[in-house]
Amino acid sequence: MESHVLFIGDAAGMITPLCGNGMSIALHGSKIAFECIVPYLKGKIDRHEMEQYYADRWHQQFSKRIRTGRFIQRFFGDKFLANFLIRSLKPFPKLIDWLIRQTHGQPF
Ligand SMILES: Cc1cc2nc3c(=O)[nH]c(=O)nc-3n(C[C@H](O)[C@H](O)[C@H](O)COP(=O)(O)OP(=O)(O)OC[C@H]3O[C@@H](n4cnc5c(N)ncnc54)[C@H](O)[C@@H]3O)c2cc1C
Repeated sequence: MESHVLFIGDAAGMITPLCGNGMSIALHGSKIAFECIVPYLKGKIDRHEMEQYYADRWHQQFSKRIRTGRFIQRFFGDKFLANFLIRSLKPFPKLIDWLIRQTHGQPF
């Protein structure tokens, strides 16, 4: 949120390419924005509440995923770290699934 503008998709925050979920985040963000804007346009909430509601929901939905993506991506800027991570995780497929889940949201 900047100058009272609701940012959606990449403009609000980009997930790292490795996580490959940017289109879904853009669509999900649009849905959240819609759900915040409609009550404002119907006069049920004021502008400040609408902005706060959107910011809260955006952070709740995407902040952790984007942060986790950035953390994982850091390993892939270095050949040694990338190989170390892949070799360490390979024997633990459930841990890999868990890691992927940290960057992917639920169907919406
Ligand atoms: C090479 C590449 C591969 C990717 N692969 C995947 C993938 O496999 N899966 C996935 O989920 N995501 C992928 N992504 C990410 C995904 O494309 C983005 O996260 C997603 O498109 C974000 O949607 P958006 O609506 O925020 O932005 P965009 O899709 O970029 O849409 C923004 C639009 O605004 C227009 N625009 C910009 N400035 C102005 C202006 N001043 N006035 C008017 N119009 C303007 C642009 O031309 C553009 O059409 C990839 C991205 C890249 C770059």
